[in-house]
Amino acid sequence: MMKQYILALDQGTSSSRAVVFDSTYHIKGFAQQEFTQIYANDSWVEHDPEEIWESQYHAALRAIRYANICPEEILSIGITNQRETTLIWDRHTGKPIYNAIVWMCRRTSDYCTQLKEAGYTEFFRQKTGLIIDSYFSATKIMWLLDNIPGARIKAEKGELMFGTVDSWLLYRLTGGLHKTDYTNASRTMLFNIYSGNYDQEILDLLHIPASLLPEVLPSNSIFGYTQPTLFHGCSIPIGGIAGDQHAALLGHGCISSGMAKNTYGTGCFLLMNTGKTPIPSQKGLLTTIAFNLDGTSYYALEGSIFNAGSTIQWLRDELKILDSSAESEALAASVPDTDGVYIVPAFSGLGAPYWDMYARGLIIGITRNTNRAHIVRAALESIAYQVYAVLQAMQTESGCTLSTLEVDGGASANNLLMQFQANILNKRIVRPKNLEATALGAAFLAGLSSGLLKSVEDISSHSEIDAVFLSKMNELSRQKLLSNWEKAVSRSTKWIIPT
Ligand code: ADP
Repeated sequence: MMKQYILALDQGTSSSRAVVFDSTYHIKGFAQQEFTQIYANDSWVEHDPEEIWESQYHAALRAIRYANICPEEILSIGITNQRETTLIWDRHTGKPIYNAIVWMCRRTSDYCTQLKEAGYTEFFRQKTGLIIDSYFSATKIMWLLDNIPGARIKAEKGELMFGTVDSWLLYRLTGGLHKTDYTNASRTMLFNIYSGNYDQEILDLLHIPASLLPEVLPSNSIFGYTQPTLFHGCSIPIGGIAGDQHAALLGHGCISSGMAKNTYGTGCFLLMNTGKTPIPSQKGLLTTIAFNLDGTSYYALEGSIFNAGSTIQWLRDELKILDSSAESEALAASVPDTDGVYIVPAFSGLGAPYWDMYARGLIIGITRNTNRAHIVRAALESIAYQVYAVLQAMQTESGCTLSTLEVDGGASANNLLMQFQANILNKRIVRPKNLEATALGAAFLAGLSSGLLKSVEDISSHSEIDAVFLSKMNELSRQKLLSNWEKAVSRSTKWIIPT
């Protein structure tokens, strides 16, 4: 039987998805399964490792069934995953010692504050490219070793394995391998992105035994083979692994320095490929490994915006001026502009490039003429302004001027937002037909390692375009809007007085 399909496993924060791609990277089968979010208290978020595995495995079986193919026809599997989420399991029994601690879980904020107060900010930035934050895996590992009875002793004896979700899936798929790829390793806050190794000074500082850590391989490696019991006796190679935002960068074909993609979801994740040069940031961006192909690391600058689609959800769920997120487009289009209204959605402070935890949201410029359409339009425009601010910082720090921004994510379906984004950036916005950019990126990696793709340059020829948005705004209008936005931001900053 001809092996011509790639199976991409996309293990996300709220659901596990599986996509079967044919040899031209068109979707042949798709399945998705949600799983439980465990909120232990206000800011603790966990996943059941068994549910992560089960939901992902069953999504894979269903995608194969919908594609109407046999597992023997699968050439290779690519894995992409929610990043930073931390698991530790027993090396011999495979049993997790605790639930997976999810990237957004803030339980280790105190560890991070202590590290910052002890003056380690630059130490971590210079080695890992990251800011000290509880998002990353390092302090989650510390918490597990400190709080689960017997964990530290077992870890010191080499009896435990740490992994991000990719490693956990690989372990289960292969029946025991302990590996990860460079992109996932670069989000642990333990990995030196310059030397390409776990950093011994960091491990010593945080008291994390090296034996816990998975072996790090290039993203387009053959990581192992599936256990025959899983897919009708087949040993399918796992030929690609990358964190979700990194896979999406590849899925968009952003293979060269200066190319960037933005994902418009609950928040926004903007990543710019900076080629073989890691660029340290002074403007609150992260320096990260975009992907490692055949041993060569390519780097990216990353900017996170906390509130994007969530602002539209807020209008829907709290203000109740929308029935659905999609309705925002028609309502915003019912007025020619916001009539001078600006929203700064600093619900939980402002992220890059402003970084003000004490900022709070505001709606400003309201007159007696303001109606809900203006408010909705201002909310959509606030997403575009925030992306502008991050992109400006990226262009300044990278020295690369972007011509095109590739987009995906739920809110990228909004044409009014995309047109306004093109206007305000004065750049070409390209929305691909296949919005499964993340799965596609994982499939590309598996395609590279299995020879379906000859080289990384082949990737760009597979992107099919759904829509292109070009600026229709003159420079004077753009500058006026941007200057008002900055004025609105300045009114929202330092609102909360720290106690
Ligand atoms: P995530 O992966 O973060 O859950 P998604 O990519 O699924 O996010 O996108 C969902 C977000 O996009 C929600 O916050 C929702 O409010 C927003 N959204 C979805 N469709 C639209 C739309 N047509 N216009 C504006 N926002 C939208």
